[in-house]
Parts: sequence; structure tokens; C-alpha cells
Amino acid sequence: MALKKKGLLRPGEASPENRVYACTRCSLRTSLLEGEIAPNCPNCDGKKHQWKPTRQTLLPHIHDVKSYIYSKSTWSDKLADKITAFCGNMTFVYVHCVWFALWIWYNLASKNPFDPYPFGFLTLVVSLEAIILATFILVSQNREGMVNDLRAELDYQVDLKNMKTIAEIRSLVSEKHEKPKSKKRKK
Ligand SMILES: [Zn+2]
Repeated sequence: MALKKKGLLRPGEASPENRVYACTRCSLRTSLLEGEIAPNCPNCDGKKHQWKPTRQTLLPHIHDVKSYIYSKSTWSDKLADKITAFCGNMTFVYVHCVWFALWIWYNLASKNPFDPYPFGFLTLVVSLEAIILATFILVSQNREGMVNDLRAELDYQVDLKNMKTIAEIRSLVSEKHEKPKSKKRKK
């Protein structure tokens, strides 16, 4: 329990957050995403060691954008997603073909039709269905747009972070190259 309080991870344990960890024996760094299993340190393999969290966190903060959005959505959002998924299916087309064919056939063939030609009631039902379905599709598309926006934002943040890190590394490397040259000039 005392180890858990300090945030130390044993190899095989899952990381509670996106963070860089350091080996307690050799200080080797490893970065773990939330839920990722801590590995055995390659330097200290077989010897007793743990992973100590450093102050360095990792971007992105959200590992899987789609499941994050889905976990935040209400039951009506989920219903809209399911209905939209069903509408984009060929089963939807077949069901409607059979429904229209039976409706028209019955009302033309029957001596006592409930919706005679030109099928005013069928037109009303189909119009109402179209309005409701269009709304569901718009709701679902808005949610899909949110997922894409969030992904683009995360991509941008990661790119920015990488650009900064590369600039830092480049400045370190060029400093190391310049130092010996300046010493030679002084001699
Ligand atoms: Zn180690």
C-alpha cells in the first residue's frame, strides 16, 4: 500500500496516467500511456526494480478520442448513432421496398382499400419518417464532426510538442558541435 501511495509501478502493473517513468535502479526512462503495462527494465532484467513517475506527462491526454466522446454521450445520442448506422444499411432499403410493394399492392388489389390511389396516407407516413431520419443523421454527423475536430486538435498539440522537442535537441547538438571548434581556434 505504501508503494502505491508513492505512485511506484512494478513491472506488469498498468500505468494510471500518461506519464514518463524512471527505473529505480538505473534511471532508464520509459513512457507509458494510461492503462499500458509497465515492462521489465532491459538494463535491470531479473533484478528487483520498479518504475518511479517523473514530472514529465505525455500528450495526448485522451488516448482514444472516439470512446471518450462515446462515454460522454447521452442515451439519445447513442440512439441517433444506432439509427443512423441502421439507415446506412442495405437491410433498410429492402425493408422499405417490401413495405411499399405490399402497401401499394394491397390498396390496388383490395375491394376495400384503407389508403386508395394516390396513397395519401403512405405519403404522409414517409414524409414524417424522412424528417425524423434527417434529424437523427444530422445529430450523428455533428458527433462525428466533434470526434474529428478533437482528433485534429490532439494531432496539432502533438505536432507542436514534437517541434519544440526537436528544436531543443537541435540546439543541444549544435552546441556540442560548436564547443570543440571554438577550443581549437583558441589554441
Ligand atoms: Zn533499470
